[in-house]
Amino acid sequence: MKNLLLLVLVLFTYSASAQSFDEVKITKNWKSKIEDIAPAKARIKAPKRKLLVFSQHTGFYHWTIPHNDEMLKILAQKTGAFDVFIGHDIESFSASNLKKYDAVVFNNCNPAGPDRDLFTQLIKNNSSLSEDEVKALANEYEKGFMNYIKSGGGLMIMHGALTVQNNSEEFSKLTGGSFDYHPKQQEIHLIEVDKAHPMVQAFNGNGFTHVDEPYFFKNAYWDYNFRPLLYAEVDKIEGQRKEFNSDIVYLAWIKKYGKGRVFYSSPSHNAQSFEQPELLQFFLDGIQYVTGDLKCDDSPIGKP
Ligand SMILES: [Zn+2]
Repeated sequence: MKNLLLLVLVLFTYSASAQSFDEVKITKNWKSKIEDIAPAKARIKAPKRKLLVFSQHTGFYHWTIPHNDEMLKILAQKTGAFDVFIGHDIESFSASNLKKYDAVVFNNCNPAGPDRDLFTQLIKNNSSLSEDEVKALANEYEKGFMNYIKSGGGLMIMHGALTVQNNSEEFSKLTGGSFDYHPKQQEIHLIEVDKAHPMVQAFNGNGFTHVDEPYFFKNAYWDYNFRPLLYAEVDKIEGQRKEFNSDIVYLAWIKKYGKGRVFYSSPSHNAQSFEQPELLQFFLDGIQYVTGDLKCDDSPIGKP
């Protein structure tokens, strides 16, 4: 009887935890585990690049923000392909600062809803300017950032960071889409759109299965002005709150923006997903794509 009770308890705990993970502590052990499974070298040999990782949120806090910082630093140190600089304030986005970097990584830098306007919120948090002055300055930062990408900069967007300037149609065209909502965390099976594409070689043709938040998108997403990399089947996703106008949802893509490049990866909400080395390789390849080193077909598929 006692054993049965224990079994029930174990099963219950397992099924509950399978859908939602607890925060992982960043310990020496965790870091060395990630270091062990991280790729030893970058796929493409190129000059050492400089990455600005922006890790400040003004809205929803993702517990993985520090894990992403550490994971990117581990990729940088182990491969020697790039250096990581972490940014936390609006000055990170000044033209003179941006030009020091080959690419910017948005690390779950979620702004607060419903405005979801990161630049405004970063300025507001630290100034005595009037509403109008804040708005004008935020517009300058937004335009300045878009110009940085347009003139050849790179942008890697990690998971929730797609919500940066989520209500700006122009910014949505830069990122490839805006965040709409996500059902509860669940096991998601991601499938390569084209198994031969250089950006999905990390998955060896097997796709990628993990527990994550299944994202749905809006605004510029429906222009399909990107080259999708991974998708999930919509009818396999539980807890949808509205009709989605397609049988599949793309959960990672790349795109050109002027002379620059953008990589979006919805994986991952959880640091547990990094324990599958495929995802680390995928991120590294994404970094090499946005820095312009990994050359591949990034032509948009366009509306069907
Ligand atoms: Zn999330």
